[in-house]
Amino acid sequence: MKDDVKKAIRGIALQNASEHEGKTRNDAVISKILGSRPDLRSKAKEIMPLISEIVSDINKLSLSEQKSELESSFPELLVVKPKQERVGLPPLDGAENGKVITRFPPEPNGYPHIGHAKAAIIDEEYAKMYGGKLILRFDDTNPENERLEYYAAIKVGLDWLGVKYDQIKNTSDDMELIYKKGLEMIESGNAYVCTCDKETISKNRREMKACKCRAGDHDQNIKRWHDMFEKYKPGEAIVRFRGDMQSENTVMRDPAMFRIIDEIHPLLIDKYRVWPNYDFAVAIEDSIDGVTHAFRTKEYELRNELYYTILDKLGMRKPKMFEFSRLEFEGMPVSKRILKPLVQDGKVSGYDDPRLPTLEALRRRGIVPEAIRKFVLSLGFTKSDTLAPFDTLESFNRKIIDVTSIRLFMVTGPVKIIVKNNKLTEVELPNHPQRDMGKRRVELDGNFYISGEDAKTLKVRDQIRLIELYNVKITKIGSEIEAEYTGNDFKAEFPKIQWIPQKSAVKLNILIPKTLFVNEKFNEYSLETKQAYTESHYLELNEGAEIQFVRFGYCRKDSAMQAIYTHK
Ligand SMILES: [Zn+2]
Repeated sequence: MKDDVKKAIRGIALQNASEHEGKTRNDAVISKILGSRPDLRSKAKEIMPLISEIVSDINKLSLSEQKSELESSFPELLVVKPKQERVGLPPLDGAENGKVITRFPPEPNGYPHIGHAKAAIIDEEYAKMYGGKLILRFDDTNPENERLEYYAAIKVGLDWLGVKYDQIKNTSDDMELIYKKGLEMIESGNAYVCTCDKETISKNRREMKACKCRAGDHDQNIKRWHDMFEKYKPGEAIVRFRGDMQSENTVMRDPAMFRIIDEIHPLLIDKYRVWPNYDFAVAIEDSIDGVTHAFRTKEYELRNELYYTILDKLGMRKPKMFEFSRLEFEGMPVSKRILKPLVQDGKVSGYDDPRLPTLEALRRRGIVPEAIRKFVLSLGFTKSDTLAPFDTLESFNRKIIDVTSIRLFMVTGPVKIIVKNNKLTEVELPNHPQRDMGKRRVELDGNFYISGEDAKTLKVRDQIRLIELYNVKITKIGSEIEAEYTGNDFKAEFPKIQWIPQKSAVKLNILIPKTLFVNEKFNEYSLETKQAYTESHYLELNEGAEIQFVRFGYCRKDSAMQAIYTHK
């Protein structure tokens, strides 16, 4: 056997071993070598002993020896993989095993999206890392925006993500306690009731000026507090924290602690009308829930001073607060202010429209939860707010679904082709090229569809291979293409084309989601629909099945008539 063959085998074996934790196998090497060296295909039997010998040699080397030989002798075989190995989260300051309590506190005011996924996964991973506990707490003290369906949607989203919580509660469960703490703040002079109008309050805060209410005495504040439950109308009175109107941190300029909202609460209906603001509620809740480590996105960083000061004034236990960067994809905003009108105006089909960053939409598009988790963890705990490119998530997803996706043929812009002397009546096609996922039978009569794109490139006398079937030679090109069977031998130089038997073809729409916003404007062309034909086996797959359409990409079965493009 020639030295160059040995060398080629060794290179492939090293490459394969280094990708599989130092171990390679005969069958992996033979299929790769025959794939890259058509000249050896007739000599498979002769090179097999040589492969066994080289494979066993390579398996005796350590992974680092394999890698260094691959680098020095076969640099062309080095596959530079994107950095996507799981990067664990950094250790948590002050964390004790068994004592860490984290919380995920979504407001039930919309469908959960990728930003929620990041927060929930970080909260859960830290609880797991220290054998601690995760609390799911619905931060539901603004009845204006909150709805029952959102509580449910958030739970469904977490279940899908595989985020497990140890306790579930609502901030609104603790209203009486929150009132008690509010009153305590007023009694101690750390809060007062302000009856100025909105404009005056904002103007004063900008100009660092106190309003006359700030000088009001104890009795005035107590009376006004009680009046907030009965007399005042929404907007006529708020409780303000007595901060520092001269503070450089604008958050500290006497922020609101309670306001009046006369809306029906999804759980408590009309039981309460005075509702705590976020800053007050979150500090009280984190403290009484025993949270040891609290996480939120960076835009809240300025609020930390207020959070700690409120707990100080009340003499309550203080959790440690940490910030991470917000997660959003380029051209896929998560803001409700942007998404809601798109749904309302029918520019997208709903919150599960595959162009959206909601969990529902990602699921429908074929993104799997494990990919989201790996992706989130790969981002680590960075504070820099960068937009993530969607294809980073895709590369995690591809790795996972590739193994389980059935391979099917599908043609777009179909053109008929007739193979005049077809003799085969049936063929068995493998459901996966490497893994044993079974085979499917396809009936044949010589009448096929091929893709319009492929048909365009064909000329009379061209030879092509119908993948997994046979070779044909084009004899006539018209509205239909005619061809004749020329043999079965695999010929590397023939273009390989997928096909669908006409008699069993299944009509399919393929939805292709594209970037939703381009230059901050809604992209009118963000959803493309392709007409296609696929194999009848498609109908036997479960809804939600992931498919790799050969020479097209991964798609998720949405219904019997529709599939959604996942990614390349
Ligand atoms: Zn005032």
